[in-house]
Amino acid sequence: MRISGKDLSVRLKAEMAERVAQLKEKYGREPHLAVILVGEDPGSVSYVTGKAKASEVVGIRNTTIRRPDTISEKELLDLVRELNADESVDGILVQLPLPRHIDENKVIEAISLEKDVDGFHPLNVAALWQKRPCTVACTPKGIMKLLQEAGEEIAGKRAVVVGRSNIVGLPVAKLLLDANATVTIAHSRTKDLGEVTRQADILVVAVGHPHTITADMVKPGAVVIDVGVNRNPDTGKLCGDVDTEEVEAVARCITPVPGGVGPMTITCLMENTIDAFERKQR
Ligand code: NDP
Repeated sequence: MRISGKDLSVRLKAEMAERVAQLKEKYGREPHLAVILVGEDPGSVSYVTGKAKASEVVGIRNTTIRRPDTISEKELLDLVRELNADESVDGILVQLPLPRHIDENKVIEAISLEKDVDGFHPLNVAALWQKRPCTVACTPKGIMKLLQEAGEEIAGKRAVVVGRSNIVGLPVAKLLLDANATVTIAHSRTKDLGEVTRQADILVVAVGHPHTITADMVKPGAVVIDVGVNRNPDTGKLCGDVDTEEVEAVARCITPVPGGVGPMTITCLMENTIDAFERKQR
């Protein structure tokens, strides 16, 4: 069985559109997301376009601010501070990666905590690890919704997360732990990856290389979440980190690429923006 992130995101966005309409009625304006795009990287341009389209569907105001990749770090920090001070802006997202001459950490830290809808601010990350209220990063949040959609009871299960990045691997491992899974994190230095992944009832793969997970590395009946977004070197098409067709024969369910985690990431960004707006009204 495939877990369609595309279908789930359509449903969730329809619910959010109703919520936004009610909020607009109550507070006189819609939530407002400001997205900063530096440069013309095709991947970043396509992500930013996807975010603008989703905003339109949900009824969120979206302002995309484009700057050339020659922008200085100071100019970018000034822009972020301007948006922090702008009362009409509820959420700020700086599309990553940034050009090498700009310190990404500095830029993320400059975003005010209340407007950090990506959940990357170090104080949001700290709050997640201390189990305090926080904005959870969009991809890990979307993965948890996909597991729920698959009807997966997480408590007591063995979860293996392959990848330990700040934006996917680590936060999703923490969310699975909080949901009472027994969690193992694997990475590029893990010995005999297959031996580790075969223990997983829930297998989350966020590596960035096609064919990382083959059918023989998956426990029969497991739920597999494929986060990877890669170009298949042979066909040029988008593919994940998992050999989907082969693994599908072994797993209970699996997310496809495209149409799995990707749409859920954007949908959770919408949710985080609406939440930020609502928190501001209290
Ligand atoms: P990073 O490059 O930051 O991290 C990759 C992780 O995979 C690292 O922890 C690395 O280990 C580990 N790794 C690399 N090779 C292997 C291997 N052979 N075996 C086991 N582990 C390995 O990537 P991200 O977490 O940012 O992204 C991962 C993938 O997910 C990418 O394809 C990205 O495009 C995609 N992605 C998709 C999103 C979506 O919305 N669909 C959102 C974000 C990312 P080590 O730490 O030892 O180097």
